[in-house]
Amino acid sequence: MTPLATASLAELRTLLDQHGAPAFRAQQILDWRNKGVVNPEEMRNIPNALREKLAEWCLCDPLTLITRQQSADGTRKYLLQLDQGKCIGKRVECVFIPEPERGTVCISSQVGCTLDCPFCCTGSQPFDGNLAGHEIVAQVLMVMADLRRDPLPVSLSANRVSHIVFMGQGEPMSNEKGVHDTLKTLLDQLNISRRRITLSTSGLVHGITRLGAKYPVNLAISLHAANDALRDQLVPINRTFPLAQLRQVLDNYPLPAQRHITLEYVMLAGVNDREEDIAALARFVNRGRERVNLIHYNPHPASDFTGSSSDHINTFAAALTNRGIRTTVRRSRGDDIAAACGQLNSSTPTAPENAAPA
Ligand code: SF4
Repeated sequence: MTPLATASLAELRTLLDQHGAPAFRAQQILDWRNKGVVNPEEMRNIPNALREKLAEWCLCDPLTLITRQQSADGTRKYLLQLDQGKCIGKRVECVFIPEPERGTVCISSQVGCTLDCPFCCTGSQPFDGNLAGHEIVAQVLMVMADLRRDPLPVSLSANRVSHIVFMGQGEPMSNEKGVHDTLKTLLDQLNISRRRITLSTSGLVHGITRLGAKYPVNLAISLHAANDALRDQLVPINRTFPLAQLRQVLDNYPLPAQRHITLEYVMLAGVNDREEDIAALARFVNRGRERVNLIHYNPHPASDFTGSSSDHINTFAAALTNRGIRTTVRRSRGDDIAAACGQLNSSTPTAPENAAPA
């Protein structure tokens, strides 16, 4: 069955043609889809008979919304169940991060994660399958539909999806097919500029090279340590692709003018926030092409790490800036509903008192 979430105009025209339906309806259907409407019953300018048939010919919505939680800052976390395919019955989370001028959807590419970074809550959830492209795109469409049905106050949110980040559950480069299919749809169908899409990876170097050749979106690297001994512990994929290999691939990643690669660095007290870690970063970072983004650590029950204090993070940031490294500190969003960086885990029961019915 053709998945509506990733269908192109040509595919949909062919499908309609095969069933003797007028091909011009394809554009109308995709106009709805591109606004997040995937239920044919809501496609008002499509005749009733065709709406019914569309539900038979296409896989219209592969996800069921189980719960939606909303943070005090307006961040929304969605728990979604996959309704068919290889991951049937399994659950993933995605997050909408509102701002007055923009709206970002953080999407998941896997159920759990193939990797096992010890500070990350998702890493504590066993890997349970790769999502297909249409299941990843459907997360974006679901958020669009939710914002239209139930907008946030305008003081908090532009109530539109302008940016996409692959920073949810999973290592995107371990699911290249699903992620490439998603990128093709986001760029070619939903017309989201590549400057507004960021893929975060722990550093699977061959995948990064292929990404740069095919879909050179913004790149973020889960760095977290700039020497191999420590990074082998914090980001175990470093044992396979050590920093020297990562360096080579990052230096060759295509970057448009004025853009940079983001090196994400979660601040763990006494682990990677010491003087020697500043020195290691100063040696590793390519100042002309990269910036460091320091992240407050969000604790979770499966980890013994403690986050660095805000004061210490600011001191660390100043030390990097003094060494000529562009450094920012990420504002934590949605941590009261476990929607912040490194907190997603769809095997964790959702707190019922905080959950809104789907
Ligand atoms: S940090 Fe990323 S790659 Fe590492 S376990 Fe968490 S989700 Fe997986």
